[in-house]
Amino acid sequence: MWKFFFDLQKARIGLLIVVLLLTACSGGSSSGAKEETAVLGDYSDLYQYNAYLLDGHTVRWVSTTIPVYGATGAGWRKAIKRWPTVNFRFVATKPAWGIHILGYDDLGNICGLASFTYDSAGALERCTVKVSILHEDLNCARVTDTITHEIGHCIGVFKHTTDGGLMDEKADGSSEITSSVAAILGLLYTLAPGTDIRDQLLARRPGSMRAMSRYQADGGKRYSRSWH
Ligand SMILES: [Zn+2]
Repeated sequence: MWKFFFDLQKARIGLLIVVLLLTACSGGSSSGAKEETAVLGDYSDLYQYNAYLLDGHTVRWVSTTIPVYGATGAGWRKAIKRWPTVNFRFVATKPAWGIHILGYDDLGNICGLASFTYDSAGALERCTVKVSILHEDLNCARVTDTITHEIGHCIGVFKHTTDGGLMDEKADGSSEITSSVAAILGLLYTLAPGTDIRDQLLARRPGSMRAMSRYQADGGKRYSRSWH
């Protein structure tokens, strides 16, 4: 019985030493390592959903306050303002840069359309949003969710998610702005337009990317894209 007790005590002391050693070893470095992993993950998402368009350089509005013209439908402003990270300023005259809601149009079999232009230095210049006149017939769920979805494309989400949220290709009635999408935008708008994030990526992109980049510091070229 006593032997067992002493063995147990020894084991407990041994365990305590191991725990102390582990704590000592990991102290300081563990929090740093965790942080680094999280940031790298975000950069990889940022590349996948945004910076791939300029071969590793971010694409965003130059300001976090974005002028919006034409948000006249019922509940549209509220649907736009749902996005975190950026602010929207609703304006009565067409702005020189910003988002322009064009309203309803015949878009074939798609629910909504966001068309944007950006320059080769990573600055968004203009984004137009259209909603299908057949929205109801196409089973597109709520118009306001389509507006929120298209605005998501307008502010920097340049690919559809597959997480069951609002930015999925077929959102199927989901109106959820998922935390991963919010995190991408959060990171995007802490970085200047055109920020080179290639060195932050875990997986190295093909070498050809460095030689053949669509990015140009002078912003001399203009590109256009559309997402539905
Ligand atoms: Zn879309």
